[in-house]
Amino acid sequence: MTFDELGLTPEVLKAVAETGYTEPTPIQAQAIPHVLAGKDVLGIAQTGTGKTASFTLPMIDKLSRGRAKARMPRSLILEPTRELAAQVAENFEKYGKYHKLSMALLIGGVSFGDQEKKLDRGVDVLIATPGRLLDHCQRGKVLLTGVQVLVIDEADRMLDMGFIPDIEEICRKIPFTRQTLLFSATMPPEIQRLTENFQHAPERVEVARASSANERIKQAQVKISRRDQKRDALRHIIDTENVKNAIIFCNRKRDVSVLHRSLDKHGYSTGAIHGDLDQSTRMKTLEGFRSGEIRLLVASDVAARGLDIPDVSHVFNFDPPTHAEDYVHRIGRTGRAGKEGAAFTLVTPEDRKYIEAIEKMLDTTIPVHEIGADKEDTDSKAEAEASAPETGEEETEPKSRRRGGRSRKKKTDEAQPAAEASAPEEAEAEKPEPAAEEKPRRTRGGRNRRRDRDDDDDKIVGMGDHVPAFMLREVKLPRRRSTDEEDASAEKETEEA
Ligand code: AMP
Repeated sequence: MTFDELGLTPEVLKAVAETGYTEPTPIQAQAIPHVLAGKDVLGIAQTGTGKTASFTLPMIDKLSRGRAKARMPRSLILEPTRELAAQVAENFEKYGKYHKLSMALLIGGVSFGDQEKKLDRGVDVLIATPGRLLDHCQRGKVLLTGVQVLVIDEADRMLDMGFIPDIEEICRKIPFTRQTLLFSATMPPEIQRLTENFQHAPERVEVARASSANERIKQAQVKISRRDQKRDALRHIIDTENVKNAIIFCNRKRDVSVLHRSLDKHGYSTGAIHGDLDQSTRMKTLEGFRSGEIRLLVASDVAARGLDIPDVSHVFNFDPPTHAEDYVHRIGRTGRAGKEGAAFTLVTPEDRKYIEAIEKMLDTTIPVHEIGADKEDTDSKAEAEASAPETGEEETEPKSRRRGGRSRKKKTDEAQPAAEASAPEEAEAEKPEPAAEEKPRRTRGGRNRRRDRDDDDDKIVGMGDHVPAFMLREVKLPRRRSTDEEDASAEKETEEA
């Protein structure tokens, strides 16, 4: 099939041809005609399948007629993270270059003032994260009654991040006559309900079995006997496998920083992204990684979800994700758009239960990749100097993922006063929650099932990360006497007395 058969206008086809794409991906081939026909679409597809273009291309055509009124966007795309929102905006720019569509991006980390100016001029396409959008609605700066097309992207991710009540609120503000496109990699019951409540007889388009991994990705697990050997093993694999570039996932922000420093110290070109870094730093790092200036990107799940970086040769799970479905998302950063990829997961005995859950979900066994045993204990001196020591205190069940776990953020987006683009309140509002880049506005009766915060905002105990290396070295203590020996010795002492 070619793009010409999908019913898109010559202008859009020209822009697509200029990107070099010759054939629509399966999700594009199936979804685009429905979107052009004005139907609601339920797209079950992971990132990497070309799903973004499956809604941006037909939307550009649909919006090419008509004009936007001030503060009344004509279409709305909801994304769970700032990075994804920015990525969708790039798609509109790329494919909409022969159209004069106006666009605004409402994401945290950017001043309200600039965003409001854009809204005042009227926008055809509004791309937003839910919390920031509701803030603007509350300030009366945006009216959703003119929205004709609503896209809820990465719905299962929205669920994980606790955004569902916000999405429901947003849906209620938009006329029911709208066209609603919902994309999700999986269909948990909450998303099913969202579809039933807010979509109208949607066309279901499914391109990959939920929770299935891309077959082009070579997967391997590397058994490591102790957590403090992981960095050494990681460097060994990077040096011996043909790693052009890689994203390395850690479960906690703290580990992202530690590993980043360590790799940097060992001379690798490395960048780090996690939810506590400010937006411009994250964007700069991502740009560096995309352009090839940075070879290794150490990342947390929250910051890296859904990022479209087309050419990633390897993914490393420094820690296996504690939630099996995150594995599919992580390794999906490689093997994109028809390319080959490889994903290595470092597994200590404590990590076994997570890798077993992943294997169960995928209904497969992840092959073991052997690394030279001699590699495991080298380099400890450089390692000790490089960074904070491994604390070995990995939470088996991170707090935020415990059932009923609540967001520890005291101050929400809602608390912001008006018109203070760079006022202190803005700075406070933008201070990232110690775990996620975008946050739900509230939790209603615990319905916000927010699971993917970076989990290292615990109280610092003792010296925290800053325990000097020498204090962590194993010390040989004299063998403790058994109770029997002690009893015997006590008896002997009594007798002697
Ligand atoms: P997405 O799933 O939207 O994140 O897209 C994944 C990647 O596939 C992006 O790098 C797109 O630029 C690329 N892509 C989208 N459509 C096509 C296509 N028809 N042919 C080849 N690559 C594509």
